[in-house]
Amino acid sequence: MAFTPATTEQRFVLDHVVRIGEIAATERYAAASDDVVDAVLEGVGQLASGEWAPLNRTGDTVGAKWTPDGVVMPDGFAQAYKDYVDGGWGGIGVEEEWGGQGLPFAIQTAVLDTLGSANMGFALCPTLTVGAIEALQHHGSPEQQALYLPHLATGEWTGTMNLTEPQAGSDVGALRATATPLGDGKWSIKGTKIYISFGDHDMAPNIVHLVLARTPGAPAGTKGISLFLVPKFRLNEDGTPGDFNDVRVVSIEHKMGLHASPTCVLSFGDNDDCIGELIGAELGGIRAMFTMMNNARLNVGLQGVQVAEGATQGAVAYALDRVQSARAGSPSKDSVKIVEHPDVRRMLMRMKAQTQAARALVYYAAGQVDRANLGDHAARNRLELVTPLAKAHGTDLGNEVASLGIQVHGGMGYVEETGAAQYFRDARITPIYEGTNGIQAADLVGRKLGLDNGGAFAALIADIRGEAKDERLLALVDACEAIGRKLATADADDKLAASYPFLTMLSVATCGWLMERQGGVARSDDFGRMKTAAVRFYLDQIVPEAMGLTAAANASAAVLYSIEADLFAA
Ligand SMILES: Cc1cc2nc3c(=O)[nH]c(=O)nc-3n(C[C@H](O)[C@H](O)[C@H](O)COP(=O)(O)OP(=O)(O)OC[C@H]3O[C@@H](n4cnc5c(N)ncnc54)[C@H](O)[C@@H]3O)c2cc1C
Repeated sequence: MAFTPATTEQRFVLDHVVRIGEIAATERYAAASDDVVDAVLEGVGQLASGEWAPLNRTGDTVGAKWTPDGVVMPDGFAQAYKDYVDGGWGGIGVEEEWGGQGLPFAIQTAVLDTLGSANMGFALCPTLTVGAIEALQHHGSPEQQALYLPHLATGEWTGTMNLTEPQAGSDVGALRATATPLGDGKWSIKGTKIYISFGDHDMAPNIVHLVLARTPGAPAGTKGISLFLVPKFRLNEDGTPGDFNDVRVVSIEHKMGLHASPTCVLSFGDNDDCIGELIGAELGGIRAMFTMMNNARLNVGLQGVQVAEGATQGAVAYALDRVQSARAGSPSKDSVKIVEHPDVRRMLMRMKAQTQAARALVYYAAGQVDRANLGDHAARNRLELVTPLAKAHGTDLGNEVASLGIQVHGGMGYVEETGAAQYFRDARITPIYEGTNGIQAADLVGRKLGLDNGGAFAALIADIRGEAKDERLLALVDACEAIGRKLATADADDKLAASYPFLTMLSVATCGWLMERQGGVARSDDFGRMKTAAVRFYLDQIVPEAMGLTAAANASAAVLYSIEADLFAA
C-alpha cells in the first residue's frame, strides 16, 4: 500500500495545537517561518514516501542480520539512510553551532513522525541519534561536543543508548557494567548490555554508544551511576574513526516485530581494550541520561502516532476497496464496500480520532520542549507533567489502532500480505521500552502530580477548564482533578494501584481539550470535514469511555492484595 505523508494534518496540528507561530516569533526559532515549515514537511514527505516506505516490508521480512563481522541491514537501507543524511534531515532540531538547522523540537517531531509512519523500525535509528545529541549538547565537554556533535548532527554517525542489562531493566539502578579510571582522564569500560537498538549496523562509519556504568566505590542504586561516551571506533588525532574500541556484538534478538531495528547484545571490553570518556560529572549519569530519556520518551510516544498513521491509512484503503454483503436495511441487495457497514465505520472513525488525539498530545508536548528551551518555566513543568502521558497514552493508542487495523482487514489482516499485521507487531514494543507504561504511570502519580507542590497539575486542569466547552469533557476534568488531589496524599500502594487508569483519564482529558480546540477552527474542505467528524466522535465516545475508568482510579489496592501472590497460580 502506498504511504501518503500526513502533511496537512501535521501542519494543522503545528498551527493550532503547538501554536508554532508563537514559537517562530522568537529570535531563537525565527528560522521556523511558514515557508520553511511547509518546505520541511513536503521534503521529508518525499523522502519518506519515495524511499523509506518502500523498504518497510523488506525491513520486516528480511530484517537486520547478525554476522561475525557485524550487523548487516537489508538491501536498500544504507542508500536510504545516506539520502536522509545528505538531505540534512538529521540536523533539523540540532543547534546551528553544531551544524544543525536550529529548528524547533516540534518540527523535528514532525520529521520523525513522517519517517516513522513510513518505516518505524528504520526511523528508530535517527530517533536514538537525536537522543545522543541531546545528552551531549547538555552534558558533554566542549571537546566532546566539538569532536562528536557535528558528525551526529548530520546523522553521518549514529547514537545508541545503553542502560539495560539482564538483571537491570526497569530497575536501572541494578546495573553492573563498570568503568575503571586509566589515569589519563579516560576510562576502561567492561560489561554486557542487552536489547541495544541499532547497537550495530553497516549504515554509518562510526557509532557513538552512550553507556551507563559504575565507577569504583560508587554507591549502590541510581546514585552510583555515571554516563560514558564509548565510540565503536576510537577517534584519530584528526577526529576520523580509527581503531576498533572492543565493543562486540554478541547477537541480535529474534523479535515479534521491529525487524528493521537490530536489537543487540553488546559486550564492552572483552579484551580489556574498550575506552570511554565520562560525560558530565562522575555519579551524575542518571541525570544526564534523563536528559536523553525525557525527549526519547516523547519520541517513543511519537512511535505510537507513527504506527497509528500507517495502520489507519492501510485500513482506510482496504475498506474503500473490499466488497462484502449488502448494507443492512438498504433496499438494494447489492454487495457494498465494507466502509459502508456501520461497524466498519465505527472502527475507521475510532482509528482516525485516536490517531489525531495521539498526534495532538505528542506534538503538544514537543511544543513545550521548545517553550521550555525559551526559558518558560511553566512550560518546563507542563512538559514534565505531560511526558508520561505522551509516552504511555501515545503508545497505547498506537497499539489500539494497529489492532483495529487488523480487524478492518478481517482474515487478510491476520495473514501477512497486507502489512496490517506488521503495524501490530511493530507497535507492541512501544509500551515496553523507554520505561514501561506502568513505570510512566508510577512516574505520573509518584513525581509529577507533586511537581511544584501540585502547581503543575493544577495549572493543566485550569488551562483545560479555561478553554473546554463540552460538558462531558468538563466532567472528566472535574473527575481528574478530584482523583489527582486524592492520589497526591494516598498511601503508596493505593496510589500505584490507581496510577494507570488515572493516567488514561488525564490523557483523554488532555487530548479532548486539544481535539476540541482543533474542531473549533476546522475548515469546510474535505480535511476539515474529516477533522470535525473525528473531534465529534472523540468527545461523544472516547471522553465518556474515560469517565468509565473513575471506579478503577478511585479504587484502593485492597482487592489486588486480598490474596497472597501464590494464589495467582490457582
Ligand atoms: C526491541 C527492544 C529494544 C530496546 N532498546 C533498548 C535500548 O536501545 N537501550 C536500552 O538500554 N534498553 C533497550 N530496551 C530495553 C527496554 O528498555 C526494557 O525492556 C524495559 O525497560 C523493561 O525492562 P525489562 O524488559 O527488564 O522488564 P522488567 O523491568 O522486568 O518489567 C517486567 C514488568 O514488570 C513491571 N515492573 C517492573 N518494575 C516495576 C515497578 N517498580 N513498578 C511497577 N511495575 C514494574 C514492568 O512495567 C513490566 O510490566 C529495548 C527492549 C526491546 C525489547
